[in-house]
Amino acid sequence: MRSRIYLDYNATAPLCPLAAEHMQQYLGDRDANPSALYLEAEQVRGDFESARLKMARCLGVRPGELYFTSGATESINWAIRGTLAANPERRKIVTSRVEHAVTLDIARHLERSGIEVVLLEVDSRGRLNLDEVAAALDDNTALVSLMWTNNETGVEFDIQALGNMAREKGVIFHVDAAQKVGKGLPSLASMPVDLLSFSGHKFGAPKGVGGLFIKNGVGIRPLIWGGQHETGRRGGTENVAGVIAMSFALAHAVERWPHAAPTVRRLRDRLEEIILTALPNTQINGDTETRNDNTLSVCFSGIEGHGVVLTLSQMSVACASGSACTAHDEGPSHVLEAMGVDGAYIHGALRFSLGMDTTAEDIETAGRLIVDAVRHVSRI
Ligand code: PLP
Repeated sequence: MRSRIYLDYNATAPLCPLAAEHMQQYLGDRDANPSALYLEAEQVRGDFESARLKMARCLGVRPGELYFTSGATESINWAIRGTLAANPERRKIVTSRVEHAVTLDIARHLERSGIEVVLLEVDSRGRLNLDEVAAALDDNTALVSLMWTNNETGVEFDIQALGNMAREKGVIFHVDAAQKVGKGLPSLASMPVDLLSFSGHKFGAPKGVGGLFIKNGVGIRPLIWGGQHETGRRGGTENVAGVIAMSFALAHAVERWPHAAPTVRRLRDRLEEIILTALPNTQINGDTETRNDNTLSVCFSGIEGHGVVLTLSQMSVACASGSACTAHDEGPSHVLEAMGVDGAYIHGALRFSLGMDTTAEDIETAGRLIVDAVRHVSRI
């Protein structure tokens, strides 16, 4: 990975060195079970709770509102299924067609068990129509679940407006913030959000650790039963090393992001410029006004994006043709389909996602190689 030009931060961010350094001791000397009664365990429990406090401060929530999980997939399952379980009289959920595969998969399963699922449409730039959202929320709706930042296009939904709307209608609001936490998330203290899922490996923690913010007073049933961990709401011996690492990774990201974001954005825009200048029949996916700082989704007419990703891999550039979770799927991206991307373009999708360590040299070199790779694949 290290010798590559890595442009796949939305799939996963490299492990933050500070996080790696701090987690080491919890894999060695300090590996006691935090639920045990002896001194070493008490010490580990203290460190674990300090990590919760550190993370809560970064997110702008109370420590008691933050629950640790195995990642965003578990958190999203917990948020949606736990809310339905706590509100059995409400039999409907509202989400969108451009959500991550996790949410869409849960929605499909729920639909089979008799839950009404509304999949909101987006326009050609990946934006929601707020009137349509308002019309979908009613007394039967248990929850509206929407993503903050789209993992494929980088388009951000207006979480403030959506949350206000959900509140007015008395509907619980869950946000999948896997691509937002560590990349300029505002303090949740001022946001109308009830539940928020996130994933550590998107901001420099190891894979397999994440969290769910549950606002005080929001009723939600556990997803994983078995023990008094996480105040009885999520069973399972704590992933101490993972959570400690995640707390350092998040604090580091939160401190760095405000200074790094303008550079990340400038480099992303430069990559876009190189591609658009050299390659005709190219289109940018997603609304450039509401797009985040690090993501560039493009489509090339008449070629297979998968082929370009593999060619670039041989040239030591790592990128994606869509989301990492659906990288092995044959069909076109459901996000681009929902946006109505033209048939000639939809198979030629590429996603480049930058991080705070991406350099100008990376972008100039990658830009040249991308142009070569697309030309090469077009010829064959
Ligand atoms: N939601 C979004 C928007 C994502 O990008 C991802 C990761 O790909 C997930 C959810 C799932 O996260 P995790 O890998 O922690 O299960």
